[in-house]
Amino acid sequence: MKDIKKIELLAPAGNMEKLKTALYFGADAAYMGGHNFSLRQYSQNFSYDEIFEAARYTHNLGKKLYVTVNIFARDNDFAQLEEYLNILQEAKIDAVIVSDLGVLDIVLKNTSLDVHISTQANTTNARAIDFYANLGAKRVILARELTLKEIQNINKNLTKDIELEAFVHGAMCVSYSGRCLLSNFFTGRDSNRGECVQSCRWDYMLYQKTKPDKQLVINQDAKGTYILNSKDLNMLNHLDKLAQAGISSFKIEGRMKTAYYVATIVNAYRRALDYLANNQKIPEYILQEPYKTSHREFTTGFYFDKPEECYSSSRTIQTYDFVAIVKEYDNGKALVEQRNRFEIGDELEILSPGDTFLKTINVQKMQNINGKPIMIADQVQQELYIHTDLKLNSGDILRKKQKNS
Ligand code: SF4
Repeated sequence: MKDIKKIELLAPAGNMEKLKTALYFGADAAYMGGHNFSLRQYSQNFSYDEIFEAARYTHNLGKKLYVTVNIFARDNDFAQLEEYLNILQEAKIDAVIVSDLGVLDIVLKNTSLDVHISTQANTTNARAIDFYANLGAKRVILARELTLKEIQNINKNLTKDIELEAFVHGAMCVSYSGRCLLSNFFTGRDSNRGECVQSCRWDYMLYQKTKPDKQLVINQDAKGTYILNSKDLNMLNHLDKLAQAGISSFKIEGRMKTAYYVATIVNAYRRALDYLANNQKIPEYILQEPYKTSHREFTTGFYFDKPEECYSSSRTIQTYDFVAIVKEYDNGKALVEQRNRFEIGDELEILSPGDTFLKTINVQKMQNINGKPIMIADQVQQELYIHTDLKLNSGDILRKKQKNS
């Protein structure tokens, strides 16, 4: 059993804004990718300068920053990789996340960077984890196909002192620990080199080979079936069980998700962990938070002895819209940056790591940046003032319930 107070909440950082959001809302650590060698090439990711800035920003808050270098490398990747690892070392990154043994070898030989073994390495047993510990790894991110019972056994059988990390929330796919050829096969974009186009979310028809004109009865709507499209993982209500199984870092998936998504999910898991640390039950309103941001149907994945499930549409849903982020607050006036349309008379809910969380503002008075009264905020990223007595903080988010929710 891991002490819940010491468990790390680890959040995705697809760019600098999302990194700051994750840390503001209570993540203990964040993981990010550079422009190369990371498995999320369609996330914005970080340039060399931004990696230095991100490390400084994170360390000033006393938190940790990990960088994904988890491609399956080809021989011609290594010259540039060497230079990249030097940059990461200079930036004082807290660990690199690797899956390829060649990459692990060069990290161990050329740098003093800590190493976390990526979930892409499909680690499913204590022997493999001990082996990685002997090589010098500090942490293993477990294969997501493991059940809680299997994780408990692994923990019992380990002979080395090594940290275990596991995913607790976010999108999952039908690949085996991320090893997949679908995207490569259909589009030439290789998931194992960070180029996945999410082909599993598309709609498919299944035919029996001997009866090509006869479609098998598996279609779930007029467009076809989404047999390959997994539900999203949500372990918010089971964090105590993961701690009991021996996980010391709870990882949230989603480097391609929005800052609003990161804020909502990190805030929910931070608050849930804090309730558990104080021996309190997680309140229902916290368990409802993941529904307020983009999600598919939820599942507990493989943790409770059954495989992850797929379902009938790839569409994501959410019950609230992100309408503005707070830049500063002074004397009854919040300077905000608009993200979605809102107007006088709207009720906005506050998403904050502080005491104003879930309080609402009934918008009565707004001004543009020049002090002129306005009725509607509908210009993308426009800065404006909202009058409210609730003391907001820079980084707080304002959201609005969708009409049909
Ligand atoms: S195509 Fe789908 S199953 Fe394959 S790696 Fe991409 S997200 Fe995963």
